[in-house]
Amino acid sequence: MSAPANTENTRNTDKGNATGQLSEHFSLEEMTRSGMAIRLRLENKPTASDIARMRELCEQVLEPLRRRYGRICVTSGYRSVAVNKAVGGAARSQHLTGEAADIYVSGRVMAQKYSDFLMAHTDFDQLIVEPRHGRPRWLHISFTRRRKNRHEVINYRACMQ
Ligand SMILES: [Zn+2]
Repeated sequence: MSAPANTENTRNTDKGNATGQLSEHFSLEEMTRSGMAIRLRLENKPTASDIARMRELCEQVLEPLRRRYGRICVTSGYRSVAVNKAVGGAARSQHLTGEAADIYVSGRVMAQKYSDFLMAHTDFDQLIVEPRHGRPRWLHISFTRRRKNRHEVINYRACMQ
């Protein structure tokens, strides 16, 4: 199979590198950066398996959303145990294994638009509209290869009222 000429960026040459791309539009840097890690000087370094899971999340869930709506902003992807603790993440959060990402939304309209698309077009594990009360500020979305994806949706109805 011959790859088409790629004039957009260098994604085909640096795929797999620690500083490279996870998928067409998502870099490892974007999926691992954490303001909390920087402030508290915590390590936030994924293993090769974590990176493989992040790549799946990007390919299966984030890229389809990106293709439909243009640029999306990941506010939190992979988290080490220390970073997850510092941000108050759940003890068994899928962020710990590279299976989850949080995506910025500006409010109800964007939260609903993104959620509806993800539910209709992706094989996601869990979708949570956050926070539980008030104006939606981010979506938590996950994807797994460990088992069947659950397509579990949390807070959607409450947030859309
Ligand atoms: Zn999250």
